[in-house]
Amino acid sequence: MQLTFTVGDIKNIIKASGTVVQDSVISILLTDSRRISNAPASLFFALNGRRDGHEFIADAYTAGVRSFVVTHQPEMVAVDVNFLIVDNVLAALQILAAHHRSQFDIEVIGITGSNGKTIVKEWLYQLMSPERNIVRNPKSYNSQIGVPLSVWQINEGNNLAIFEAGISKAGEMSSLEAIIQPTMGVLTHMGTAHDEGFDSPKQKLEEKLRLFRNCSQIVYQYDLLIDFPEDMREHKCFTWSRKFNIATLYVFSETSILGKHYMRAMYKEQEIECLVPYRDEASIENAIICWATMLAMGYEPAVCDDRIERLAPVSMRLELKDGINDCSIIDDSYNSDIQSLEIALNFLAQQNQHSKKTLILSDIYQSGLKQHELYLQIAQLVSNAGIDRFIGVGSDLTEHRDLFKATKLHFYNNTEELLKDLTRIHLNNETVLIKGARSFEFEKISRALVQKAHETVLEINLNTLLNNLNFYKGKLNPGVKIMVMVKAFSYGSGTFEVANILQYNRVDYLAVAYTDEGIDLRETGITLPIMVLNPEPAAFDKLVAHKLEPALYSFLLFDEFVKFAQTDDIRDYPIHLKIDTGMHRVGFEEFEVEALCDLLEVNPYVKVQSVYSHMVASDATEHDLFTLKQISSFEKAYKAIEDTLGYTVIKHISNTSGISRWPNAQYDMVRLGIGLYGVDAAVPRDSTALQPIATLKTTVSQVKKIAATETIGYMRNGSLKSDGKIATVRIGYADGYLRAFGNGVGKMLVNGTLVPTVGNITMDMCMLDVSNVEVKEGDEVIVFNEQQRIEELAAQIGTIPYEILTNVSQRVKRVYFYE
Ligand SMILES: *Cc1c(COP(=O)(O)O)cnc(C)c1O
Repeated sequence: MQLTFTVGDIKNIIKASGTVVQDSVISILLTDSRRISNAPASLFFALNGRRDGHEFIADAYTAGVRSFVVTHQPEMVAVDVNFLIVDNVLAALQILAAHHRSQFDIEVIGITGSNGKTIVKEWLYQLMSPERNIVRNPKSYNSQIGVPLSVWQINEGNNLAIFEAGISKAGEMSSLEAIIQPTMGVLTHMGTAHDEGFDSPKQKLEEKLRLFRNCSQIVYQYDLLIDFPEDMREHKCFTWSRKFNIATLYVFSETSILGKHYMRAMYKEQEIECLVPYRDEASIENAIICWATMLAMGYEPAVCDDRIERLAPVSMRLELKDGINDCSIIDDSYNSDIQSLEIALNFLAQQNQHSKKTLILSDIYQSGLKQHELYLQIAQLVSNAGIDRFIGVGSDLTEHRDLFKATKLHFYNNTEELLKDLTRIHLNNETVLIKGARSFEFEKISRALVQKAHETVLEINLNTLLNNLNFYKGKLNPGVKIMVMVKAFSYGSGTFEVANILQYNRVDYLAVAYTDEGIDLRETGITLPIMVLNPEPAAFDKLVAHKLEPALYSFLLFDEFVKFAQTDDIRDYPIHLKIDTGMHRVGFEEFEVEALCDLLEVNPYVKVQSVYSHMVASDATEHDLFTLKQISSFEKAYKAIEDTLGYTVIKHISNTSGISRWPNAQYDMVRLGIGLYGVDAAVPRDSTALQPIATLKTTVSQVKKIAATETIGYMRNGSLKSDGKIATVRIGYADGYLRAFGNGVGKMLVNGTLVPTVGNITMDMCMLDVSNVEVKEGDEVIVFNEQQRIEELAAQIGTIPYEILTNVSQRVKRVYFYE
């Protein structure tokens, strides 16, 4: 068994050319130059993604990385670098991971399916970790890149591996099978949806089943057998079904008891039982799959029942919330292992809003590593992450306290001790990452540190935001820059929280409406260039002090700025020029361009960074001719300006729908607005490529029985058609749920059912007709999400999604999550 690999070994394994000038042991496979935790032990794979990985070699080199897998040697003067040259960098990564996998003769469960892969993987981990030392994919790292990185984590202490595999198009599973080499297969829920990457659902199923090609046993739902390709039936199969009694595990009776789901089943001619602590259909099916898998692994039915009953929810989320004493809290209090710690530390590194970073960490269990080695690795991660304050909780961490270095160190034997000491250590103006194994109950710490929220929250999914960003990046012509509009609190979605992610993901520019918005971003550590759409002359000094770039749109404003620059002895200050091509809001009119050019002719005070205009109706086919006219007047204007200046400027005119519909009008940059937040009239609503990022939810404060003869709310406007019940929820027009939604116009999702409002919306609350829904006080109610979309809400009251988004008032707490 080979457990350590040097650069030279790896060169042989992946059959690379090139020379190894400095051999060393590699323990980390790196695919992102921003995630360097231990540079000397890292091997960087220059993958060809949205950007060419070769572009980041210099960054990685500066950070200390000396070994690279590349398709061609970049021009670099450095002599101390190992370049392993291959035809296909991704294939090389996969070959190396497959080689590592084959060093281990352990049981490996491979999971695939359309839904539930991550939950089933995490639950199997929970269920079997009492006696197994399990390695698994961090989060849902199940892609062509995620799988090899996951498999690379297997170490000699592990005696079981659980890996999920996800594919998006035909042909991908074979490579994942070769890396995972599963000995047992588990198939999760198969959606009937005909996914974009497949010709048919049958092709999708067949492709997924390739993962199980060499498995000695497969666990799947019997009902799917009809679709199974012939040769799959020859495997040893453990089937389950809720319909067919010939399945190995036949669930024949199901009832709900006290909020739990009780099942009886036939297994090996015996009646067995199982209590699932969830009632939703997806969780029940996932629990049955886990039950079947445990039985297939030889667990006793009684053990299965006992453990499944205690299944804890799976949270892959990191939540970012406002904390007490000006802190930001990143809550990851549900699981702890070294891989997810690395991911969380990376998210912490993206936060710029406070200069101090704190980590509260519990002992880590079942890593498969020897304790000293484990805590040595953790101490190294902590030190590389630049943690200012480290708080370790647990006897193992306390025992290894000498390994840790940070400005402030605190150790506690258990969570209670830390809680008692929390006021004394006084966390203040810092970003605090809370990361603990479940048994440490770190949710108590997060409860103590997070600001109390009124129960209406706007949840922002930062993963979706990133997907949306990438969706638009994918539409850009080569070399086109991207400016993201983060005006009006990023359309109501946040300030530094959104900007941090954009900065980390290398957008080129941000734009805000007013100087104050730009200052807020600077004060929370945003260093990207920022354009200010409506710079106020009274705030020019602050604008300049914060390196914000004004958009100048009139002679008056231009003069004011030049005068200001003159007085303050400023030269070549970056400005942007706004041309009015038909919007008639602000901007230099076409006929004014000549005079503007005269002003620019010899002007040492400003440097024109960009010239732009704004489309009036980029999403409306009926106005396409007008849009074309705008484009041509824009071209005339910027040409005149560039001719005068004698240098080229960044030209931009497209907003979100412009990007989608006018690929020839991208020029040098586009301005992405509402599309980032998941709304674009030019993209079909059912597309999975673009998704809303925000969920507005509230809770039920009271449920009342109401007779048809009664009236509900102010002015007696509401009533029920027949005797029924209403639920009062904690959202009103002061939260942004407009009065126009009252009296049945608006609808909310209560336990999965869409129900209408009844009566007038009041300031802080409103009432819903829940006559036909099972509901109790405290239940969650969805105002909008990816199902009940803001587009629909906008249509209900005759407005546009922009207004719905930006109306959510600042009283509503924002919670950000990242998976
Ligand atoms: C708000 C704004 C945008 C973004 O528009 P979307 O339709 O949200 O993409 C682009 N340009 C300017 C000048 C804007 O004010």
